[in-house]
Amino acid sequence: MDFDILIVGAGLAGASLAAALRGTSLRLGVIETRPPKAAADWDARIYAISPSNATFLSKIGAWEHLDHDRIAPVYDMQIRGDDGGRIDFSSYDSGLGELAWIVESGLMQRELWEIIKRQHNVKLLCPAVPASLARDDEKSSIFLEDGRRLDARLIVGADGVQSWVRDRAGIEARFSPYGEKGVVANFECEKPHHGTAFQWFRKDGVLAWLPLPGKRISIVWSAPDEIADELVALQPSDLASRVAEAGDTLLGELHALGQAQAFPLRLMRVDSPVSQRLVLIGDAAHAIHPLSGHGINLGYQDAQKLSEKLAALPGWRDPGDIETLRSYARARAEETALLQYTTHGLNRLFKPANPLVSGLRNLGMNLTNRMPVLRNALVRYAVSGKF
Ligand SMILES: Cc1cc2nc3c(=O)[nH]c(=O)nc-3n(C[C@H](O)[C@H](O)[C@H](O)COP(=O)(O)OP(=O)(O)OC[C@H]3O[C@@H](n4cnc5c(N)ncnc54)[C@H](O)[C@@H]3O)c2cc1C
Repeated sequence: MDFDILIVGAGLAGASLAAALRGTSLRLGVIETRPPKAAADWDARIYAISPSNATFLSKIGAWEHLDHDRIAPVYDMQIRGDDGGRIDFSSYDSGLGELAWIVESGLMQRELWEIIKRQHNVKLLCPAVPASLARDDEKSSIFLEDGRRLDARLIVGADGVQSWVRDRAGIEARFSPYGEKGVVANFECEKPHHGTAFQWFRKDGVLAWLPLPGKRISIVWSAPDEIADELVALQPSDLASRVAEAGDTLLGELHALGQAQAFPLRLMRVDSPVSQRLVLIGDAAHAIHPLSGHGINLGYQDAQKLSEKLAALPGWRDPGDIETLRSYARARAEETALLQYTTHGLNRLFKPANPLVSGLRNLGMNLTNRMPVLRNALVRYAVSGKF
């Protein structure tokens, strides 16, 4: 047996799982096709990291080592409907330090990579491309394209939404495309954002402005395919004017920092993320609409929960034991389903429809805004996963 656990994919989910298993005696192999790229400029792929996931990253030794000059706290969030609806969330009113942290994907990726590169119980196999997968009662095996054979008691598929592991394990993924793309880009703004995030439910999609350090913001505009394609094709200065206008020029004029990128949005579900000697985490196990900003937060929570289950096993216990895997799957099922259905439902609710639905959804936002107890409970749930 070469390894106790083979993790396929060292993205944020896979690398954080490996780092979280640092204190165990488990022998880990991590297979990755390519190492993370060095930073060129501000990464357009950013995440709103919840305080509970910042704590997880801190526990695994990553948070403190990130360049904090590149991280922005979110203190307030303003959400606006398409017909006068509005909800405001405030960390101060909710008794919290901050609602979230805005962090570049590449920044976290490189830090986690450095951690696992130095980790005593990790063998990093990169660049390496898996070619086939075999499983029996005793072990799982991966054969690499270069002919190497790797045996392990458990395989973790952390290889993203197009997961090779999921496909080879015969776990069916049900994709529901939204017919939308997430357009991401960064801007310098004329006025300070004071740590406020803004989100507009518009007729042409959901637009989020997320604060970056200084007078910068990052946007995610989840728009129907044809509008997203049009946005990405715009000259940077035209895109900046369009984004500023769509956000009621709340932060004055915008100046584009680099090129916009777009990624297709889809809901992806599996019946179960576990099967014989195998488990899926992160985007390999679920994909959700980015309007709640929970994509990688779910992936980090998968990594945290799975690492806790594995670390709690006595030394003689098999990490590929199906009961342990099922217990992990049960522990993650509720939050994953809740976020998938909530974001899916919100996306549906705010699709252009008849005026009655539009009136009701905006009224609902205004009613929620007038109920501080409900509003603050929603904030606490969003940041900690608990009411
Ligand atoms: C352009 C873009 C912008 C995005 N912006 C946002 C955003 O603003 N907010 C948000 O919430 N989400 C966003 N997302 C989605 C978000 O990136 C994912 O939710 C998150 O990266 C999932 O992390 P992961 O580790 O599960 O998978 P991934 O990040 O996909 O990592 C998978 C890893 O596995 C490796 N891999 C793949 N196949 C193999 C294989 N066969 N063998 C070995 N290794 C393999 C890959 O190289 C990669 O390192 C964006 C996605 C894209 C593409």
